[in-house]
Amino acid sequence: MKKKPVTKKTKDLLAKGKKYYSLAYKPREIVLARGTGAKLWDADGNDYIDLGSGISVTSFGHHNKKLIAALTTQAKNIWHTSNVFFCEPTVLLAEELVKASKFAKRAFLTNSGAEANEAAIKIARKYAADKGRPPEKREIITFIGSFHGRTLATITATAQPKYQAGFEPLPAGFTYVPFNDFAAIEKAISDKTCAVMLEIIQGEGGVTPVAKGFLKHVQDLCHKHDALLMLDQVQDGMMRTGKLFSHFAEEGVKPDVVTLAKALGGGIPIGAMLAGEKVENTFQFGNHGSTFGGNPLACAVARVVLKILQSKEISTNVNARSKQLVSALKDLNKKYSVFSEIRGRGLMIGAELKLEYHGKAGDVADLARGHGVLVLQAGPNVIRFLPPLVIKENELAKGIKRLEDAIAEFVSK
Ligand SMILES: *Cc1c(COP(=O)(O)O)cnc(C)c1O
Repeated sequence: MKKKPVTKKTKDLLAKGKKYYSLAYKPREIVLARGTGAKLWDADGNDYIDLGSGISVTSFGHHNKKLIAALTTQAKNIWHTSNVFFCEPTVLLAEELVKASKFAKRAFLTNSGAEANEAAIKIARKYAADKGRPPEKREIITFIGSFHGRTLATITATAQPKYQAGFEPLPAGFTYVPFNDFAAIEKAISDKTCAVMLEIIQGEGGVTPVAKGFLKHVQDLCHKHDALLMLDQVQDGMMRTGKLFSHFAEEGVKPDVVTLAKALGGGIPIGAMLAGEKVENTFQFGNHGSTFGGNPLACAVARVVLKILQSKEISTNVNARSKQLVSALKDLNKKYSVFSEIRGRGLMIGAELKLEYHGKAGDVADLARGHGVLVLQAGPNVIRFLPPLVIKENELAKGIKRLEDAIAEFVSK
């Protein structure tokens, strides 16, 4: 694709970003300026098809009129109260989340996914403490390849060494088990376990879905050992996989805790920890808190997000675009033979590169950007697709066409 000339303003911004941003981030060489739907423009006027949604966040694409209206209306009323007082959007969002979840009794609102998972970890420990269990019954089991956030406790829950290295000593009490290994979890869980936490589709870990029957197996073991079943739906929740809550596709599964964030605010920072019957009274006054958690601006937007997500149009579109995307990736693969597996559910799809291309997911994402389509990677070997849930058929087709140009270039190198 022919690119517009890079302006001096863009060059300056890139230089300043490199100079002043924490080196914890290494953004791609592009300054995004505006968007509408699944289309984005950079500061120089080049356009892109967005197949990443800012990592599963902007499910309604960019510049959604209903979300903007919710935000601006609330901004004119009141935009912060703290949790010392009630405020309408916060109260109503809590009610709507509890009711929509079909299991939860109460909601603790946060600003991010990591914070929601911190709340989950704390509630699990306190649940065991309240029951007067011996102090060694505080172990939380998580799975290899998981991702639960970047705070100290959540990197510890994240069973991937690359997120932990250098930050030791890590909090105690976490045990890791291979994902989808029925025998291993049975062996690992014990009377010391107070909770098992997992994603239904491991996102950052490589878009790896839970095996059929695994979640039910984990749940049975949790019941046997009086451990909580905690589902991290920060990435796979909120219709991403075609269900409002990703466990709705898992027969007979009723979690004790579900965490949400990412898509819940459609781009406005918000998270939630939903507590089921067993833990509805575990957090008592003063046990936990957050100054910004439940912020009225974020809650006003999240209420609209939650409402539109439950409309028939969204689920119909997720299913149709999912089929379109998977079949297009398969066609691409027939032609270029680059993927060893295409997996996932709904609009959370991963394409794993063949062995000879391992380590090159970032190169593909870079080439794709050059051709006008934004895709993500999940680790070094998997290209990750998380398009807006409202992406149109022709937009997705255009994105795939551009991806094909990138793949053609990739294999010719
Ligand atoms: C992104 C993510 C988190 C962390 O959320 P932040 O908002 O970045 O703190 C936690 N769990 C999963 C599954 C995620 O994908």
